[in-house]
Amino acid sequence: MCIKKYGIPYDDVATSVNENTAFEGKHMILWDVPNDINIELPCVPNRIYCNKDLVVPLEKAFRNIIDRGLQKELKTWDGCFNIRNKRGLSSLSLHSWAIAIDINAAWNGLGKVPTMSRELVACFTEAGFDWGGTWARLDGMHFQLSKI
Ligand SMILES: [Zn+2]
Repeated sequence: MCIKKYGIPYDDVATSVNENTAFEGKHMILWDVPNDINIELPCVPNRIYCNKDLVVPLEKAFRNIIDRGLQKELKTWDGCFNIRNKRGLSSLSLHSWAIAIDINAAWNGLGKVPTMSRELVACFTEAGFDWGGTWARLDGMHFQLSKI
């Protein structure tokens, strides 16, 4: 589905790390995170390089965290755009299209029982994300857009 909607995230035209791929030029944005979110959630970067489709749901998830007083539970931002296979598997991770994010990775490792609260998880799931902490292969740090 991602390949159908966004295409393959890499190409052989971009030869240096400074050169965007066709995918990046079309679908990616350097999102300036609103300042009030950075103040409330200090681990969130000031700018996030992500898929344009991620911006609205991710801002909604951050605002849910703030509105619900859960700021202290968002401890680390662990990345978004990363062209790679799912760990240990041969299919591309949704990080490859920058429609997935990882948070609180140190306490929610792949295959480990997640430690984040159901209230924090709900901030994301109610904003349009699926949570990796419900998968057969537990990935508690991971949230991805549930619909593209
Ligand atoms: Zn992830």
